[in-house]
This record gives sequence, C-alpha cells and structure tokens, in this order.
Amino acid sequence: MKISACSLDCPDSCSFVVETKNNKITLKGNPEHPVTKGFICAKGKNLLKRINHPDRITNPLLKKNGSFESISWEEAFKLCADKLNSLDPQKILHVRGYGYRGVLADASNVFFRTLGSLETYGSLCDEAGCEAIVKTFGSLEQNDLSELSNADIIINWGKDLSRSSLHTAAYIKDARKKGKLVISISPGGDGNEKFSDKIITIRPGTDRFLAAALIKILLESNEVSPKAIEKCSGLEPFKKLIQGYDLNLLCELCGVELKTARELSNAYISDKKVSSLIGWGVQRYTFGGENISYICSLCALSGQMGQSGTGFYYNISSGRNFSSWAATPETKNDNNVLLQKLESELSKREKKVKFIWIDGVNLANQTPNCESAARTLENCEFVVTVDAFMNDTAMRSDLILPCALTMERDEIIGSALHNYINWSAKVLTPRGSVKSDFEIIRTLATMILEKNLIPEAELCFKKALESSSTPFTFEQLKKKGFAKCDWPSVAYENLNFKSNDEKFTLPIKLSVEESNGKGFNLLSLLRKNYLHSQIPEEYQTGTPELFISPESPYLNDLKEGEEAMLTTKLGSMKIKICFDETIHPDAAIIRRGGWLKHDRSSNKIIEPLITDLGFGTAYYSQKAWLEKI
Ligand code: SF4
Repeated sequence: MKISACSLDCPDSCSFVVETKNNKITLKGNPEHPVTKGFICAKGKNLLKRINHPDRITNPLLKKNGSFESISWEEAFKLCADKLNSLDPQKILHVRGYGYRGVLADASNVFFRTLGSLETYGSLCDEAGCEAIVKTFGSLEQNDLSELSNADIIINWGKDLSRSSLHTAAYIKDARKKGKLVISISPGGDGNEKFSDKIITIRPGTDRFLAAALIKILLESNEVSPKAIEKCSGLEPFKKLIQGYDLNLLCELCGVELKTARELSNAYISDKKVSSLIGWGVQRYTFGGENISYICSLCALSGQMGQSGTGFYYNISSGRNFSSWAATPETKNDNNVLLQKLESELSKREKKVKFIWIDGVNLANQTPNCESAARTLENCEFVVTVDAFMNDTAMRSDLILPCALTMERDEIIGSALHNYINWSAKVLTPRGSVKSDFEIIRTLATMILEKNLIPEAELCFKKALESSSTPFTFEQLKKKGFAKCDWPSVAYENLNFKSNDEKFTLPIKLSVEESNGKGFNLLSLLRKNYLHSQIPEEYQTGTPELFISPESPYLNDLKEGEEAMLTTKLGSMKIKICFDETIHPDAAIIRRGGWLKHDRSSNKIIEPLITDLGFGTAYYSQKAWLEKI
C-alpha cells in the first residue's frame, strides 16, 4: 500500500491509498486523512483510466508538414533551447494555467520570468471573488472546514454539492442528520435538493441583490451586530447606498420573494450560528466581485463571522502554506498580456510573439472565445505545449512535450478548502518517456540560463516547507502522506482583520448589469465525472445537451429532445433540448469542457467578458438564445 494524493484542480485535495494486487492497481481515498475520510469522487476514480488511456501522448511529438512525428527528448530540448536562445524575450509568451498546482508547478514561472518573457494575467476561475474578499477584509481566509460541524444553519450560496466538493457535501449531509438546517440558493439545475431543507431559486448572477436585501432588512430593524459596526469602515455611505434601493426592487432584481428574503435574514440575525458556503460560480459574472463582497459583508454585519460555527467558506489559496523556493523575478507590467483576449492583445504589440509555451491549461478550449485563442496558436511561428493528450491546444502546437500525471511524479499539494497539505508521491511508473513538468523546465533551464535558478526537487520541497504554517519536516510529510498546517480554527476571530485600519470595508457600489443583449444566461457548469476539458474523446459523441426550464420564455416552441442552435453574439452550436424544471427561467445549463474538435465546446460562443475585480472571466454573463434548425 502506498500513499499519494490527487493533484486535480479541485478544492478537496484528497489523499490517496494506492494498492497493487495481482498486477491490478486500485485507488481509494485515504481513510486516515481527516478530510478525505476514505472516499474520493468520480473524477479521482477516473484518474487511473486517464493515466492508462490509449490516447495518451507518451513521447515528444513534432509537427512536420502538418502531421506529428515522434522525436527524442534530446531533439525536443535542443529545438526549444535554440529557439529560446535566438529570440528576443519580448517575442516569447509563457501561458501557465492552474490545472496543475503544487510546489514544483511554479518552475515554469521561475524560468520564463528569469528569461524576461511575456506572460498572461487574468483568471479563468475565482480571482474576482478572491480579490473581493481581500478588498473587504484585508486577507483571504476561512474557518477550518471542521468548523462547519459547529454551525446550526448552513446557507449555501451557489455551491453545486453533487459535483464541486464531495467532502464539503459530506459535512452538509452530516449536519442535516444532526437536525441542522441547510438552505441552498442558486439558479437551479445542480441537484442541491437532496442536500437541502429549503431551496431558493435566484435569477442568475444576482446574489448581490439578495444579500443587499438582507442587509437592508438588518439595517432597518437595527439588527446589525454592534461589534461589526465598531469594526467596519464606510458604514454611513453604505447605509445611504442601501437606503437608495427599495426592498421590493432588490427582491425583484434577484427574483426572490420578499417573504423568502425576510426568512433568510431572520436566519442570519437569529441567535443560531450560521455558516455560509459560496460556490465558485457566483463570481463568474460581470459583477462577480460585487456578488462575493455583498455576501461576505452580510456575514460580517449580521455577526455571523469571526466565531466558531459562523463565517463564509469560499476559497483559501492552495499555495498559502508554501515558502517560495526560488527568487522569482517580478513581472514587468509591460510583459503582461490579458489571457482572455490574447489574439487582440498580441496583435497590438510592436514586437510580434514568435514562440508560445503553454503548460497547465488547455488554452484553445478553456478560454472564452476559444476559437480566437486557437487562431493565436495557429498563427504563431512556434508553439510548445506540455500536455498528455491531443486536445484542442496540443493539436495546434508545433511541439508537444508529454508530461507525467498525478502519481507519476512527486509533488506537494495544498488545498483551497482545508488546512492539510498532501504528499502526492510518484507511485506509478510513468508511461512511455513522459517527464514531469518540473524535469522538463529544469532541463531547459540548465541548457539556457547561465545560473540555473531551479534546484533539485527535494530542495524545493524542503524550502517550500520553511513556511511558518508548516510545523513539520519534509520527511514527516512523506512518511504520513499529509500534515496539518498551522492556522487558527476560526478565521478573522473576533473580527480581527489584517487590513491597514484593522477594519472591514463595505462595498461602495451596487451595480445593475447592463443587458448584454437578449436571451438567457448561459451557465457552462462543471461536470461530475471529468474535470474541465479532461473528458475522454470516446465520450464526446452525440449532440451536447442544454438543460433549460420548460417554463423558459426563450424556448422558442422547442420540445424536449429536439435539436436546436444555441446562439450568442459570437456564434452558434448545435444542442439538444433537455428539460429541467428546477432551473430558473432566465438560465440554461451546458456542461463545460467539450472539445472544439468534436464541436462540443461552449467556450467558442462565449464572449471574453471581464469581471469587475481580478480580471476574471464573466462566463455566466453570456446571453444566449435558441434558434430552430
Ligand atoms: S477531484 Fe477533488 S474530490 Fe475528486 S479525488 Fe481529486 S481532490 Fe478528491
């Protein structure tokens, strides 16, 4: 039996038990790990199939006359080194995604920043929400996950408990068994009914109005926590801002009845302990930052923060427990290119980019308007992709460097949910000649940099664990497979904040989104069995399904099972209508990650809308409509 850990882009960061019996390898959740508790999700269970999939690229591939040919690693490294050595760094672009996180995953940033290459900024995930929390409270923190057990009421703002965090869902199930109340708020279609005592269906992207309505009720009934009044800045202008909105209007904007809003506000001001979960879709709107700011401000103003059993659970940085193992140079502002608009941004630059290096992201699939990203790759002189499959990005590259996957390489993984870090050990023999991302970069760095800034992996691990929150050695971590980091169980305890004035700052705006055209909000949500675009090609057949309410005013007389064109300002894709009466009439759901090459990518019709904070992607603000075929 060996211990390893999941490195998928998932908050739960599970610890694995890997066993080999009669030449058969099995993978289970580590029963000793206090969060994993012996079970893993379908995505984790599918990892072995992914690792052993016959489509896996296991040797470097170079495109010659339009087709890929196998080459040796020596040839591949020499080709990259020659090109990188010959180019002005301003003509080199490094695109690093966070599909692969961990201590060693930083190596490509260290290398390309040292070269002085261009890099991208902008987030495909949670940055709008993270920035909102830091702006409000001075730091990004949350209570220890185990504190959820001390809540009397759990209010779930938009977390899909069936698909997004199995181990948070386990706490919810447990809480309900103990008679605790769980209320879920979302535009529907998530199956949260089975985890909740009450469901509130909200108009997509309008959580800030519901939170503002609850705050207005609190303010009008003088129920704001006295301690919160003492510890907040900007209360008077905030009161004026909220006074300017009629309660009925706020409820109308979010599509929630006033009676329901009052019930919800009663929960927040009751003498019960309320914990609030915030899903990672709430920030994927044009005013996603405001959505998060208002929900968190509600927690603080109602006194449901800074104590056991209260607080909000959104995200913590998975890297917060690691010291930096290299003196990574700062990026020059001029070297930054907005990820979501690569094609237009690069076209404006005086020096044309001639070399793009991509790792940790399926760029031509995961970005909004992904056909534009695909064109950027097609039009660039030389594109190198570090990946394991011939996906939309790899197929548009000139050189594919096949990387080791989870359990084929050593790594230390943090979590965006809990305070344990895991040893993700190399317990499988890597397929073919694949190399870890770290080994690839380290080899190149040795060939190119005068002084190699990338030490051996073991030294990186040891340096990373010199952080003040890791009171254990690398050897201890390796031996047990996981270790608890040193964080207070209660975040922002007694409303102590790390902001300059030691107070939390209330929002100064409440924005009404200008309509981005006609139609419903297209929610491209995550899947249960596969992460993002890591879907085996054999499952990418048939017409993608669009889930929509039979009450939707946008149905255009289409019937269940009928095929239609899902259309936005950017283009169309064929879908099959599936009815789901739990979905808000102003929303429709498509599962994300389908590949362009199988005509299943919703990102090809999603515009690159940017969130109010953090340069995030407002995927779910995309308006779409249905056309008959
Ligand atoms: S994807 Fe998440 S829940 Fe599933 S095994 Fe990996 S870390 Fe655990």
